[in-house]
Amino acid sequence: MTRRTKIVATIGPASQDEATLREMIRAGMDVARIGLAHGSIDDGLERYRRIRSVAASEKRRVGILVDLPGPKVRAGSFGSAGIDVPTGSTVSLVVGNDKSTSKVIEIDYEGLLEDIHLGDNLTVGDGGAVLHVIDSRPDHLVAEVSHGGFLRGRPGIHVPSDRLRIATPTDDDLKGVDAFVDAGVDMIAVSFVRSAHDMRRVGTEPHPRGPLLIAKIETRAAVDNLTGIIEASGAVMVARGDLGNECSLEDLPHHQKSIIRQCIASGRPVITATQMLESMITSPAPTRAEASDVANAVFDGSSAVMLSGETAIGHDPANVIRTMSRIATRADEEMDHEVWASKLADLRMTDTSGDSASVTDAMTMSAWRATEELGIRTIICVSGTGFTVRSMARYRPRATILGMSPDPATIQQLTLSWGTKPIPVTLATSNADMVQEAIRVAVETGEVRSGELVAVLAGSDSRSRSANVLRLERIP
Ligand code: PGA
Ligand code: MN
Repeated sequence: MTRRTKIVATIGPASQDEATLREMIRAGMDVARIGLAHGSIDDGLERYRRIRSVAASEKRRVGILVDLPGPKVRAGSFGSAGIDVPTGSTVSLVVGNDKSTSKVIEIDYEGLLEDIHLGDNLTVGDGGAVLHVIDSRPDHLVAEVSHGGFLRGRPGIHVPSDRLRIATPTDDDLKGVDAFVDAGVDMIAVSFVRSAHDMRRVGTEPHPRGPLLIAKIETRAAVDNLTGIIEASGAVMVARGDLGNECSLEDLPHHQKSIIRQCIASGRPVITATQMLESMITSPAPTRAEASDVANAVFDGSSAVMLSGETAIGHDPANVIRTMSRIATRADEEMDHEVWASKLADLRMTDTSGDSASVTDAMTMSAWRATEELGIRTIICVSGTGFTVRSMARYRPRATILGMSPDPATIQQLTLSWGTKPIPVTLATSNADMVQEAIRVAVETGEVRSGELVAVLAGSDSRSRSANVLRLERIP
């Protein structure tokens, strides 16, 4: 069986060379993620061009996602050798971004003294150390180290997001947006989103003309304003790293499930991210818990699962992708398609305004039912923006979804969609011509065989705003 759940892999120092990228593409990377948190925009653009050129030479379609860091607060450097900050010790916190010691930690956030309150907990690094604020003086805060750690370089400081005054996207983020939109990036992820307005401030054209905008759900406010944020986004990421700092850890798995459910209801691809195979940064095999985490993320309804440090700084990025691919493929195989689709009945797109959504909703359900009843193995979806394809994918059909579009941007954006093979097609004016063309391309690419029954979902003509015709055709 072929894998249906997509894999997003982060490109970093361990994976930016051509040979490793090639191996990662062969191992099954569907989308490459370039983070702008470390390194300059120019470094990012260089990685971007290299990924495009390796994918082209491999004749493989790889989506590229650029991830904006947002208002990430960092500590002044603890030096490359690192400094031990022991549990129970007391530290001063001052505004600055130069140098930190075990006694005085500099934090590059101007609002530190006003915005951080007594009783706040600041997490340093990814759960590396926790500082509990116990006193506030005119020029510094005093904190007790409630959980010590060995700190190196310039670790991130997690300031509770409802305290943080800096808005996302930041000015630096917007420079990144400009550079990568010019380069033709397929998707842009926005960090520390708190409202739908944050997503609109990115200011790009709606997809597919602009990139598919991905809202990273990693603040309490985003969990509270989820419906509006999903509506304003092309896709969503369950960003468990920072979300785990913002909520209780025991709540995290349940947030994951409910965010995913809402994304499915709205036909938005959803990525489950962070620490999925964390131990593979140094180990050749994952822990049992990690293997289960990947499989369960698939059962929850993730469109894609993501690798972060595992491929960015890990010792064997391609091996991690192969491992994730095996676990996801096996989980896809076990997926209960029938139960899934029947549960989807109460997740219909009823809250979306306008005809086009409800027509697409009804049509994709009919397509799903027809393929199940007739044992059809391929659904051809012809779509301008990709909306119909993403709506079809919600049903998690057993049948392969061929996501066909005349728009090259849509095709690239569909690399993130569950169970979808994106295939370019030329636009025809009538529905009959469009269906013939789609079938011709499906045959030519070897996706369907002569004599096979297929479902084709397309618009009645080139002006129709939704896929409103379903045809069941036998391949000549
Ligand atoms: P990050 O986002 O890796 O950019 O922090 C993902 C997360 O927070 O889980
Ligand atoms: Mn994050």
